[in-house]
Amino acid sequence: MRALTLIADRKLELADLPDPRPPAAGEVQIRVRAVGLNHLDLWGYRGMAFAKRQKFPLVVGAEAAGEVAAIGPGVNGFSIGDRVVMYGAITCGECKACREGRDNLCEEVPKRGIMGFHIDGFARELINMPARLTIKVPDGVSLRDAACAPIAFATVEHMLFDNAKLQPGEMILVHAGGSGIGTAAIKMAKAIGCTVITTVGDDAKADKAKALGADHVINYRADRFEHEVRKLTGKKGVDVVFEHVGADTFPGSLLALKRGGRLVTCGATSGPSVTFNLMQLFQQQYKIFGSFGASLRNIRASLAKMADGIAPVIDSEFTLGDIEQGLKRLESRQVFGKIIINF
Ligand SMILES: [Zn+2]
Repeated sequence: MRALTLIADRKLELADLPDPRPPAAGEVQIRVRAVGLNHLDLWGYRGMAFAKRQKFPLVVGAEAAGEVAAIGPGVNGFSIGDRVVMYGAITCGECKACREGRDNLCEEVPKRGIMGFHIDGFARELINMPARLTIKVPDGVSLRDAACAPIAFATVEHMLFDNAKLQPGEMILVHAGGSGIGTAAIKMAKAIGCTVITTVGDDAKADKAKALGADHVINYRADRFEHEVRKLTGKKGVDVVFEHVGADTFPGSLLALKRGGRLVTCGATSGPSVTFNLMQLFQQQYKIFGSFGASLRNIRASLAKMADGIAPVIDSEFTLGDIEQGLKRLESRQVFGKIIINF
């Protein structure tokens, strides 16, 4: 079978790997149809604390959708041809966090690794997965869109609603409104009636972010975003900041929060280290949430939102045949939304 493998930092290669064994008890075999590419697929683990566990070659792809191709013994509830997405880590299913549905806090995952990052991921034609970590895609949702549910959409769902507890009518600042998760955050916040301020890096993206429903768009190259946010909010600041940029924006993000505001972060693409004033943190009574991954429940909720019409923003689609173009596109700064590889 063909697989997209990372053979060195920032270097992907199409490889020919042996097909997997037939699915074991409790497993289903999935024919992968669409993989959502994330920047990490290309960058390796730049700036990430878990860099040491990287191995080459590594099958990339942290989120994907496909069809059930074979069913192992003892599996109920799946038929051949069912359209599915898969959880991105092999949780134990037994620890306290797993039993409580907090799958992304499973005690075993730090040892076992995240698929596509530490261990082989989904960018391959066939994969065996435990049936309990396989989720059916609702009718009316394409596999292309569903491929964005396990990470891009579910991460945002977990950040906004489990961690920041975003409420209808609140004001939120969404950083990098043209990114895969930024576009999802704008749509989900607008869908519950929030006012959305977003940052982008150029004017073309500003128009696209407005078209998604963002109420105010700040070009962070032209203006200090924290000053603009304070102007837009009558000096009060926003209720919630959606962070994933890191070093370049984090101190300003705190200044953009209102008293008692919440900041939720899932990334540090511009760098992982920042300095901020602890007096500001406690006097302003800020709440800061670190968020990583999502639960199976978040993935189901994401798919349900897609079925209700909140579609992911797809920048472009490629096949394995024109993968080089896809990677160039991913590296460019023009990307707006998700890049999908169709198998
Ligand atoms: Zn567990």
